[in-house]
Order: sequence, then C-alpha cells, then structure tokens
Amino acid sequence: MTDQINPCQTCATNQECCKVMGLKLSKREFEKHFKKHSGRLSVIKYNKMFIVYPRNKLPCPYWDENKGCGIYEERPIDCRLYPFDLHKIIEKNGVIEIEFYDQTDCPHKEVLFMPVDEAKGLMMKLAREVYGEDKPIKIEFISGKKTKRQYGFLNPIVAWLSKTFRTYR
Ligand code: SF4
Ligand code: SF4
Repeated sequence: MTDQINPCQTCATNQECCKVMGLKLSKREFEKHFKKHSGRLSVIKYNKMFIVYPRNKLPCPYWDENKGCGIYEERPIDCRLYPFDLHKIIEKNGVIEIEFYDQTDCPHKEVLFMPVDEAKGLMMKLAREVYGEDKPIKIEFISGKKTKRQYGFLNPIVAWLSKTFRTYR
C-alpha cells in the first residue's frame, strides 16, 4: 500500500488501533519487536501467546504521528489482520481454537479488509508458529462486533493483574 492511498492517514479514530493494541503475538514476534520496549508495555503471557497493551496512555512504540507504523513491512500478524479482530487463539484439549470478528471501530474497514480466507491463512500461520504443526485447528469467523480488542471475559482481570504485578522485564 502506498502512502498516497493509505486510508489510515485519514483515520477518524486518530489511529486508535495502534494506541489500544492488545496485540496477540508469537514469542518470536514479541522478542523481535516488543521485548526491548517492555518497560512501556503491559505484557501478558497466556496459553503460549504474548499479549501486549500500552501503559501510561502511550501508543505502540512503533507508532509515529507523522510516519505511521515504523515496522510496517514486518509488523506482526495481528497488525496485518486488522481490522479483523483476532479475538481468541488458544490451545485447548489438543485443539487450536481461533475466533475472529469483522466489526471493529475502524472507519475504513471495508477498504482495508483482506479476503476472509487470506485472514484465516495468516491466523493459521501464527497458530502453527506458536503451537506446532501437528494439532488440529478449529477456526471460527463471526460477522459481528466486539467493543474493544479483548481477550474474552478474562481480559480486564488479566490486564489489571499484568499492569499491577506482572509487567515483563
Ligand atoms: S486500520 Fe483502521 S483504525 Fe487503524 S489506523 Fe487504519 S483506518 Fe484507523
Ligand atoms: S506494530 Fe505498527 S501496526 Fe502494529 S500496533 Fe504498532 S504501530 Fe500499529
């Protein structure tokens, strides 16, 4: 996507997605991009995934008001998926369960959506990296809305615990 046609530059939410974060990352993605910034992030390790949130109302460490994402070409899969909302990616009883939504607050989602099958492919790639090649994957696409990029009902509790006690160092 070129700068000329990048709709994120005229985002009515003021690039909310890069400020709310809640990114679900593989260990490799976390260590490559976010570990060195963990002092300004809340990091939750949950079910082999690393989930990162901003602290002190700061945006993603790679966000630049003028230039946008500083690692755009190598941004994590969860960033590539947006405005699809990767709500759940866990291993449960030997099965990888993935759930994602298509209704976020992104004002340009109709332009930015990739085909659903392409999004599923990226999620499966992330799942294989985190959980290995051999486990079955159950993937569910829900055409609906989540109010925030959440990690289920546990999110508020886990985020609070993480901000309070478990910030990754
Ligand atoms: S993906 Fe959507 S919400 Fe995020 S900066 Fe672009 S237009 Fe805004
Ligand atoms: S890595 Fe880039 S796209 Fe992802 S949240 Fe940070 S600034 Fe936004």
